Amino acid sequence: MPIEVRRHPRAKRFVLRVSGGVIQLTIPTRARIGEAASWARSQAAFVEKRLAGEPEARPFVMGETVPVLGEELEIVQGLKVHGEREAGRWAIAPAAPDALAKRMEQGLRKVALLEGERALKSFWQKLGVPDGDVSVRAYKRRWGACGSDGSTALNWRLVFAPRFVFDYVAAHEAAHRLEMNHSRRFWSIVEELDPKYPKAERWLKDHGASLYAYGASLDA
Ligand SMILES: [Zn+2]
Repeated sequence: MPIEVRRHPRAKRFVLRVSGGVIQLTIPTRARIGEAASWARSQAAFVEKRLAGEPEARPFVMGETVPVLGEELEIVQGLKVHGEREAGRWAIAPAAPDALAKRMEQGLRKVALLEGERALKSFWQKLGVPDGDVSVRAYKRRWGACGSDGSTALNWRLVFAPRFVFDYVAAHEAAHRLEMNHSRRFWSIVEELDPKYPKAERWLKDHGASLYAYGASLDA
């Protein structure tokens, strides 16, 4: 299979990307092509997994991109320790790779929390229920949870999903304030809050696993 090679001035190492059946190899400007080619050959197992549809690790690295609620943001050098959204970019103070990834996760968790509060409060208002506490969590197997006291937690990784998916999960958890089950009545409340919810459900089934690829180490 042919590989597209791209030299990038900010690349610090070799990076393989497989998307739409195309294999892309990004290499530092001065890297030797022979070295890059033999490295690429050693990544055959990785390429096969990607071609088979398994999500690719997308580390938080300067120059890479990260999707934030449907907008693909380039990670660039900025001033804020945890980063901030700025004109189509995620601007963050430089740090060693591990520290950068951790700080960026904190910054993105904050975005998830603020967006979660916004969405939940508007749905709660529509349903006429009092506000509850909102938090974000690192769930492994669920997108959200609603407690009997009205407190609601969202999986912070939803920040990587399109906004309509994020909002659907908030609508789903808000509907649990009235129905603590998945009955027909529950789904009719969800539909009232978010008429297009089946599209978001489908998106989560098809692409939900990919939300776990962001920030993960390339070496993992
Ligand atoms: Zn539910």
